[in-house]
Amino acid sequence: MIHSVEKEDLHIGISACLVGEKVRFDASNKPSNFCIHELGQHVSYKTYCPEVAIGLPIPRPTIRQIKHNDLIHVAQRDGTGDVTEALQAYGQKVAKVTEHLSGYVFCAKSPSCGMERVKVYSPEGNALVSNGIGVFANEIMNANPLLPCEENGRLNDPLIRENFVARIYAYKHWQNVEASGLTKHKLTTFHSQYKYTVMSHDLVAYKSLGQLLARADLPVEQMASEYISGLMAALSIKATRKKHANTLAHIQGYFSKHLQANERQELCEQIDAYREGLIPLMAPLTLINHYLLQYPKEYLTRQSYLSPYPKALKLRYAY
Ligand code: SF4
Repeated sequence: MIHSVEKEDLHIGISACLVGEKVRFDASNKPSNFCIHELGQHVSYKTYCPEVAIGLPIPRPTIRQIKHNDLIHVAQRDGTGDVTEALQAYGQKVAKVTEHLSGYVFCAKSPSCGMERVKVYSPEGNALVSNGIGVFANEIMNANPLLPCEENGRLNDPLIRENFVARIYAYKHWQNVEASGLTKHKLTTFHSQYKYTVMSHDLVAYKSLGQLLARADLPVEQMASEYISGLMAALSIKATRKKHANTLAHIQGYFSKHLQANERQELCEQIDAYREGLIPLMAPLTLINHYLLQYPKEYLTRQSYLSPYPKALKLRYAY
């Protein structure tokens, strides 16, 4: 199974305050229920608090992003205690040892850890825009452009949550294949397992990734690098109900000839009801998995789309 990866082998970076460590400016934490009680049952966290790591005390005066002469600094309200370079240096140091990570959850809005939309102030203290990126987070993301990253707040959205977890498991799968030594055959096998996953996110990538792997002129390293960049970019695109319904219809086509007329009709009705927003994705998928047990098709059984991560996470019940 694609997701049969042990908790001990799946490492996710996370802002320390999100798993309950009391490291914030006011000695509090910001526990994420989903990260601690749900995702945390299946992954091992590597926690980082960049502000404490660079020597700031707990508690400490708050710091913010301040724009001065087009440059962003992270400092206290009055501009003193500039820690920009220290946060950058620490981010670069951590980035060098994050190859084993398969994902990262950042704490939203933090001038150090925020992934996006961090508030930026003028030197006079006026809020200018909310388009900053946490200085530490920026270093991690720049050094690991393929790493699936999300923020705690965004993970409250069921679609974003499901998408993030699916990307983590796909990336971990890729890391395992890469570590075993890449060959064109392994690339093709890997891709064959992700066809329907890609289809549910991006039809253009579905075609272009297949074409990429059909090229005979590319060395395997270049092909692998272009492939995984394309795959991770495709998986970041929202999978809508329409795209899921289209994917489900393709899967149905694979074994519909085995189904009785009433079974076929029931599946069609479930896919339509899902497309119209009346039932969650789990409903037609349960029916498909049920028919797959009755009429096994190895090609389909191995599809990541049907089993992208541990079922216990129940992420497809919510949308
Ligand atoms: S947001 Fe980042 S820097 Fe701030 S307390 Fe949490 S881990 Fe530390």
